[in-house]
Amino acid sequence: METRSISLDGPAGAGKSTLARRAAKHLGMIYVDTGALYRCIGLYALRKGVSPRDADGIASLLPDINLEMKYDDEGVQRMLMNSDDVTGDIRSPEASSYASDVSAIPSVRDFLLSMQRLMAEKYDVIMDGRDIGTVVLPNAGLKVFLTAELDVRAKRRHLELLEKDPGISLDKVRDDMRIRDKNDSEREVAPLKPAEDSIILDTTYLDADESFDAFCGLVYKRFGK
Ligand code: C5P
Repeated sequence: METRSISLDGPAGAGKSTLARRAAKHLGMIYVDTGALYRCIGLYALRKGVSPRDADGIASLLPDINLEMKYDDEGVQRMLMNSDDVTGDIRSPEASSYASDVSAIPSVRDFLLSMQRLMAEKYDVIMDGRDIGTVVLPNAGLKVFLTAELDVRAKRRHLELLEKDPGISLDKVRDDMRIRDKNDSEREVAPLKPAEDSIILDTTYLDADESFDAFCGLVYKRFGK
């Protein structure tokens, strides 16, 4: 039987992962966080001391990287890199910034493409990323582009990061986010942009429950209840 797939793209901090995790559980689908894959490559480069902008240096690391996505009983995705669980480590601000840089390298995108497509062939997925509707799953049954104003996204991400780093400032979070958005939108390969056939969902004035209801409404409309 053919699988159902939903692409969920948008800028950092739009609330994609919170929404996708909850909706996937509710709809009996698998949530695939593709940013985690780029974060792993970023973390590997960071640990090896290779500049994330050195395309040849990064390409030479790829054959040594084995990535696996595992799901725990709660459906939470865990990332294993060369058998090491790096789920927590890939969330640091350094890994975020490295991920954004390595994601502009074509060989990195090629390396991760088949893994993402394979997941969508095997399972009903909600896949979150930047280029899922445009490149990875151009035939996704439903394409949603989730966005919100920068200030709102920065405040949401700041609240999340405060749990791990009580000293982190809102200004730093906003600046990092602005840089990442710019990198992601302006890169030559697979830039962040809504697919032509995507539905834009702006969550600036929506809380988590309202975003969830709006998203599920789109899913039911497309696939039925
Ligand atoms: O989604 P998340 O913020 O975890 O992604 C980390 C970085 O990975 C993003 O800033 C983006 O540069 C990159 N990315 C990408 N394509 C995707 C998912 C993430 O380029 N499909």
